[in-house]
Amino acid sequence: MASAARVDLDGNPIKPITICMIGAGGFIGSHLCEKLMAETPHKVLAVDVYNDKIKHLLEPASLPWSDRIQFHRINIKNDSRLEGLIKMADLTINLAAICTPADYNTRPLDTIYSNFIDALPVVKYCSENNKRIIHFSTCEVYGKTIGCFLPKDHPLRLDPAYFVLKEDDSPCIFGPIEKQRWSYACAKQLIERLIYAEGAENGLEFTIVRPFNWIGPRMDFIPGIDGPSEGVPRVLACFSNNLLRREPLKLVDGGQSQRTFVYIKDAIEAVLLMIENPARANGHIFNVGNPNNEVTVRQLAEMMTQVYSKVSTEPPLEVPTIDISSKEFYGEGYDDSDKRIPDMTIINRQLGITFSHSLSKFFTFFRVGIPRHRFGTCLNLPLPINTGHTPEAIKQAISKPLAS
Ligand code: NAD
Ligand code: UDP
Repeated sequence: MASAARVDLDGNPIKPITICMIGAGGFIGSHLCEKLMAETPHKVLAVDVYNDKIKHLLEPASLPWSDRIQFHRINIKNDSRLEGLIKMADLTINLAAICTPADYNTRPLDTIYSNFIDALPVVKYCSENNKRIIHFSTCEVYGKTIGCFLPKDHPLRLDPAYFVLKEDDSPCIFGPIEKQRWSYACAKQLIERLIYAEGAENGLEFTIVRPFNWIGPRMDFIPGIDGPSEGVPRVLACFSNNLLRREPLKLVDGGQSQRTFVYIKDAIEAVLLMIENPARANGHIFNVGNPNNEVTVRQLAEMMTQVYSKVSTEPPLEVPTIDISSKEFYGEGYDDSDKRIPDMTIINRQLGITFSHSLSKFFTFFRVGIPRHRFGTCLNLPLPINTGHTPEAIKQAISKPLAS
């Protein structure tokens, strides 16, 4: 529990506030709720259509924070209770979104509605009621790097000016409209512009967060176990699923794309600083990522294969990875961000943030031999053990062929 002496970065006492958290039942929301309950005196009005990932914070009623968290099962598309909750709160945090790449080109309308249209009333209610908002956008608003348009062996490809992504400087570079992958990035960009304009014209107090591949427990789902068997989650869950089923990991278009990964608990520290330091966070767009944790998707697959083999004591498959075209894996209209390195100057200056967990540090857990069913928990990967399944249930589910 929080002590009364908590102070912000400028030494001022932090007053308890009420937060309306929309999308609180998702991956990031569940970690943020945990942090707020365990370490702060703030209250959370948790809004989502699901609450499986925060059930452990809601029940039993004897939990020490039970008077500080309330769950509201609301679909923000069509529920008049939303404005009332935003009015009751000091701060609204909007996390609600469709945000798995497999949906962007196959469900572009749902993607655009979820990331732009459904966010509109949230921004409007905050602006009209003079409430502060922290809105979750994405690193995908940068799209592709300038460098990727240079010839493969061009020396400028090595110049950070051609690939490091800066909030106040880098352009947003998307593919053509028929590449529907960009429906998500484009919707997120437009809602960012709207929030920014509300700030400029109507004085809305806002912070925009651009996460760069945050990873950890409870991320997404394992197809056929705690999610639809035909569903395609983000890469960590895809690879975990392949490893558990002893299938080769699928490298989309050869796995050459690069990503920087950050551990969810590091990233949540940064969000808490934004919440508790409004004078430093308002009016800013923040990249939140770890520029030192860059790997190609192929390297990520190799690391995960090695680690899994150690943990499970099963030898790696003879063919541990296979290449697959993006068209075959995601369908028509997929396109990719080539490289994502966040510039962290603004967030360092405003909030003094540096991240500690390197990718290789995640992997040191494995030197000590961990039972197969705990793989996800220890690697901080999104495995069903984290969503309450027993090891037996996982083993059974994995040994069954996937339902079509
Ligand atoms: P998530 O899918 O786990 O969580 C989103 C939550 O929003 C889900 O629980 C979902 O049920 C809820 N939601 C969606 N539509 C809703 C609606 N109409 N009404 C009520 N609830 C609704 O995703 P996440 O990884 O926790 O991401 C949260 C936010 O961060 C998203 O806006 C996403 O675009 C952004 N983001 C995350 C990452 C990352 O690395 N995880 C990267 C870039 C951007
Ligand atoms: N990817 C892959 N195999 C998979 C799933 C994803 O090669 O089984 C690739 C995907 O094409 C992209 C990267 O991994 O280049 C990261 O994908 P993710 O779904 O995590 O989301 P993104 O970072 O693109 O938003």
